[in-house]
This record gives sequence, structure tokens and C-alpha cells, in this order.
Amino acid sequence: MDFDFTPEQQGFRQEVRAWLAENVPADLKGRGFASSRADVREVNRLREWQRALHKAGYVGMDWPAEYGGRGASIMDQVILYEELSHSGSPQPLNRSGLSMLGPTLMKHGTPAQRAQHLDRILTAEDIWCQGFSEPNAGSDLANLQTRAVLDGDHYVLNGQKVWTSMAHVAAWGFFLVRTDPTAAKHKGITFLLVDMKSPGLTIRPLRQITGEAEFNEVFLENVRVPVTSVVGKVNEGWGVALTTLAYERDVLTMIRHISLRTALHKLLGLARRTIKNGRPAAEDPVVRQKIAALSIGERVLQLNGYRSLTKILRGGAPGPEGSTSKLFWSQLDQELAELATEIIGPYSQLMPGSAHAPDEGEWEFYCLLARGSGIRAGTTEILRNILGERVLGLPKD
Ligand SMILES: Cc1cc2nc3c(=O)[nH]c(=O)nc-3n(C[C@H](O)[C@H](O)[C@H](O)COP(=O)(O)OP(=O)(O)OC[C@H]3O[C@@H](n4cnc5c(N)ncnc54)[C@H](O)[C@@H]3O)c2cc1C
Repeated sequence: MDFDFTPEQQGFRQEVRAWLAENVPADLKGRGFASSRADVREVNRLREWQRALHKAGYVGMDWPAEYGGRGASIMDQVILYEELSHSGSPQPLNRSGLSMLGPTLMKHGTPAQRAQHLDRILTAEDIWCQGFSEPNAGSDLANLQTRAVLDGDHYVLNGQKVWTSMAHVAAWGFFLVRTDPTAAKHKGITFLLVDMKSPGLTIRPLRQITGEAEFNEVFLENVRVPVTSVVGKVNEGWGVALTTLAYERDVLTMIRHISLRTALHKLLGLARRTIKNGRPAAEDPVVRQKIAALSIGERVLQLNGYRSLTKILRGGAPGPEGSTSKLFWSQLDQELAELATEIIGPYSQLMPGSAHAPDEGEWEFYCLLARGSGIRAGTTEILRNILGERVLGLPKD
């Protein structure tokens, strides 16, 4: 594993740090932590921030220059994310577009699709959502039932998607639909780009445990989508979707520790300020032990990310680190949230808006949000299955 940054990389870090120190708007500082993306005004504010980052050359940095990026290395990308977190800045808003759809279009899209969409992803002109999951197709994604039937030069879509994050503010969605119901489960699926304003498409918000509605149900009733919206080949969407998911997981493996580090710093501040049994919680030996364990965990995640990065930079393929890091991260995230509630005590139940809620209720929100960490992007049980069966060679049953 290579721990050293080159002089160029260190120079880049200084450049980004200086730019962020000058440019992160005061009202967005700290909004990367426990903040909702359900509110349309907040989303529009974050959209403006992505535009400012883009103008400065910090969005889609790893994209090739011909598609509006800088062709920067994955290492510079990691440095950028570390510095965004260090400065208290939220990350670019259009995550599904930037880390999932953009690279997928570069690999499988047509020139017309790239010309229409890539630039608008970078500028956050179009927010994208991911329409993969369905009521009976989450972990078992290949079970998806949304039908697309060819009618002239359009597909006609009928079915339902669920847990579609940001659908309520998205201009476009990338959807998986079944184009050949007679084919085997993983075959007969097609990857489609869908205009979220299409007639027949209804978005219904799903209120989450946090009280907010960041994700949605999406109902499709005779929604007409032009055949030019197919990405890759008809009935071969499963392979395209694997590309999309691989891009999502690759970058995340390297940067997962970053959000945890931000939360850990906040937790330390909380422990120092909160008086428990006549002394700051940070002086309580049990709290100290738990904070130390979380700090070690955060560092392990970082090093695991660097290990993966070194392997990729040396020309290797990403290994099982992706699954271990997601599994371990979600566990640490929930433990951190639980420790915060322990420190705060009953006040941790107060919501944002209450005058008595410590840190303006951020911890209540964070603790509830963390329940989803073990579900999204691969549930804990599925990741354990993958590691058990494919890495450790344990018997399937
Ligand atoms: C915050 C959040 C955001 C999301 N955003 C999106 C989005 O934008 N777009 C999108 O398409 N989806 C999104 N999802 C959906 C997510 O991908 C699914 O929730 C996930 O794949 C799990 O599917 P499911 O909810 O249907 O649960 P299920 O697959 O029904 O699983 C239910 C339970 O059974 C367990 N289980 C299932 N199969 C097995 C097995 N073979 N062995 C052992 N245990 C098993 C699971 O681990 C889980 O505990 C989001 C989810 C969350 C929480």
C-alpha cells in the first residue's frame, strides 16, 4: 500500500483547500452532515453550489476532457472529497448523474445521448434519479417486473418503482425495465432513460422514519419512451446496470470514511460540551473507549480504501474491499449514531426546531437516517452472503 502523496497531489490539495476556504457559502457550511435532500429549496441551493464547483473545475474531475472533465486521476478525486469534507462543504448534489449515469453513458451510450445529457449532469441543470428497485425487486433486483412493450418507435412502460431517491426533483431517471418476459431472469432487461415529466408517470413521496420524504414511489402507466432512449442493447440492460453499480461502489469504497470522519468530529465536540454526572461526557471512561473504537474503525476504513486505491492505480481490479467497506461502514455509522444518543440522553429525541434540541436536532435526524445505512447500496445480509460465499468459499446454505 502506498501512503504517500506526490508533490503534484499535495499541490492540488492546497489549491482546492484555498479555493474552498474562499468560496463555501456560509449557509452551506456543515450542511454535508445530517442534512435532508427532500426540500426543494434546499435542493435548489445545492444545485447552485454544484454550479459554482463546476465553474471552478471541481465537478466530474475524473471525466475525460472531451466530456467536460479534467481527466484527473481517482487520487485527485479522493483528495477533492477529503477537502470538501474538511471545509464543511456539501458534496455535489447530482450524485446519481455524476458517479453512476455519466460513466455508464460514456461506456454504453450513443453519441446523441452523451451530447444531450453529460454537460447537463455536470452543471446540475438536470438532476437524475435511479429507478431500479421495485416492491418485489430490491436485493433480488433481477426479479423486476416493470414492462416495456415496443409500439412503433416508442416503448410503452407499465409498472412501479420504489425507493427512488430524489425522483421528486429529478428531470430524468435511468430505469431498468423488462422487455422480454419470456427470457431468463437476468436476460430480457433493458436500461432506459426516462423523462420524469412524461405523461402517465406519477411520483408519490414516501415519508421516511426521519419525517422527511427524500425518496418516492414512481408509478408508470402507459408512459411512452422513445427507442432512442435505450442505453446499450435491448434485453442486455443487466450488463449495463452492472457497470452503473460498479462505478457507484468503486469511488465510494475510497471515500466512505470521509462522512464518518465528519460525524466523528461533530461527536467529539458534542462529548466535550455535554455535561454528564457533573463532568463532560468526553471524560467518561466508557464514552472515551467507544470514541476510541470508532476512531480506530474510521482509520481502518480509510486504509482499506487506500489499499483498494493502490491496487487500482497499479492496474488491478477492485476486489472484495468494496463489500467489506460498505458492511463495516454501516455498522460504524449506526454505532456512532447510538453513542450520540447515549451522550445526549432523552434530549436526543427532540427534533430540529425544538429550542432544547442539542446541535439543533441534527443528531435525532442522523440517528434515524443511519437506520438506512444497512439497507441502501446492498443490505448487510446480502453483503455477508457475498463475502461468505464468494470470498471465504463458505457453502451456500
Ligand atoms: C436510503 C435509501 C435510498 C435508496 N435509494 C434508491 C434509489 O434511488 N433507487 C433505487 O432503485 N433503489 C433505492 N433504494 C433501495 C435499495 O436498493 C433497496 O432497499 C435494497 O436493495 C434492499 O431491497 P428491499 O428494500 O426490497 O429489501 P429486500 O430485498 O426485500 O430485503 C428485506 C430483508 O431481507 C434480507 N434478504 C433479502 N434477500 C436475502 C438473502 N438472499 N439472504 C439473506 N437475507 C436476505 C435483506 O437483507 C433485508 O434485511 C434505496 C434504499 C434506501 C434505504
